[in-house]
Amino acid sequence: MKDVLIIGAGVIGLSTAYYAARRGHRVTVLDRNPEQRDGCSFGNAGMIVPSHFVPLAAPGMVALGLKWMWNPESPFYIKPRLNWDLLSWGIKFWQAATPAHVARCAPLLRDLHFASRGCFEELADLPGNDFGLVKRGLLMLCKTPKTFHEEAKMAARARALGVPADVLDPKQTAALEPGVRMDIAGAVYFPQDCHLSPNRFMAGLKRQLDKLGASFSWETEVTGFTHRASRLTGARTSRGEFTADEFVLCGGAWSPVVARDLRLNLPMQAGQGYSLTLPKPRQLPALCSILTEARLAVTPMGGQLRFGGTMEIAGLNEAINPVRVQGIIKSVPKYFPDFTPQDFEGVPPWRGLRPCSPDGLPYMGRTARYANLCLAAGHAMMGLSLGPITGKLMAEILSDEKPSIGVELLNPDRYG
Ligand SMILES: Cc1cc2nc3c(=O)[nH]c(=O)nc-3n(C[C@H](O)[C@H](O)[C@H](O)COP(=O)(O)OP(=O)(O)OC[C@H]3O[C@@H](n4cnc5c(N)ncnc54)[C@H](O)[C@@H]3O)c2cc1C
Repeated sequence: MKDVLIIGAGVIGLSTAYYAARRGHRVTVLDRNPEQRDGCSFGNAGMIVPSHFVPLAAPGMVALGLKWMWNPESPFYIKPRLNWDLLSWGIKFWQAATPAHVARCAPLLRDLHFASRGCFEELADLPGNDFGLVKRGLLMLCKTPKTFHEEAKMAARARALGVPADVLDPKQTAALEPGVRMDIAGAVYFPQDCHLSPNRFMAGLKRQLDKLGASFSWETEVTGFTHRASRLTGARTSRGEFTADEFVLCGGAWSPVVARDLRLNLPMQAGQGYSLTLPKPRQLPALCSILTEARLAVTPMGGQLRFGGTMEIAGLNEAINPVRVQGIIKSVPKYFPDFTPQDFEGVPPWRGLRPCSPDGLPYMGRTARYANLCLAAGHAMMGLSLGPITGKLMAEILSDEKPSIGVELLNPDRYG
């Protein structure tokens, strides 16, 4: 049994804490924010996505980013800045965005998402831990025949990988999803995908951790570390030093800032996204969906309906850009014609910073630089979906076991 200090109480930190505590480790979680702050792990679209086996760094994304850079309402935007970290990240992204990279990553992402889906099922079965898990699949809704054709090709790739996917015409889509009127060219249906309420999931993890006796220290900012030779001895914080046998950095988009004095090379950019949750939507779909061209996720959560999207690479900046929020609102009626921009009046936009590595894969595992430091960060658009399996694998690593899924591609030292 070890003393494990986890830095960051997002979905990755709490999942790691949960699985480590279940294995009998003494766990402490630090976060610089107050408890249950509305960070990236709370207002997201709540989708569990075996369908997402293609990382963000994929062929076509660089061209799309460059094209959309000039449209202030576009769903993917890189703010041009003379900043070495951004330039170097951009070059690494461009180098990674190849068919070979996607082919290498896809089986691993598939396995991780499916294993995580199993963890969500187990977690949902715990007494009093209802977080609204719905196992009815996801629809990729396509507005244009061109996109529909591309998504149909993606469905064939999915099936070849063992991820079930059905190509549906508009009539078949409407039969599957009668709750909302759609104006689309067609859809791809991924029956294994799921959705849940992330706020309730996070609250449930916290309750489980309380039961397991984990300690929390809120409003505690990590400012540096102490070490002896190649072992960390403590984390320096705004509330004094915390010592432990093992340290796990789960700081989301801020991980490189926390890691600064550890001399780790952890390329990461924050990808800001927004969500808007209609408390009483005029129509309520039963399935979650992605409005494909608009890159917008739509998730029913109880009686509410959440729309989440945009990827704005603009630094560690949490200011809300109203033009991009308008971009989301304008996209909705293109697919769901009964919705109007007035439906969103008075709905406060939520924002979160996704932690984006340049190759679209998380950093997961031990770093060679310190014998007792692990990283679990950089899950970009998949952090909720991959949260539980990340926690489970990290708990295995912390227990000095071979991880049950090979995580070599996720080596946190891969950029040296
Ligand atoms: C609009 C939107 C929709 C999304 N939809 C989905 C989805 O449907 N499915 C999916 O899988 N993913 C989705 N995501 C992505 C997902 O939300 C993220 O990948 C995930 O929340 C990242 O979790 P994390 O724990 O790594 O980071 P965070 O949740 O950001 O947690 C990191 C924590 O570290 C703390 N911290 C940072 N620095 C310090 C410090 N110095 N000292 C102490 N604490 C520190 C922070 O306060 C924070 O609480 C979405 C994201 C957005 C923005």
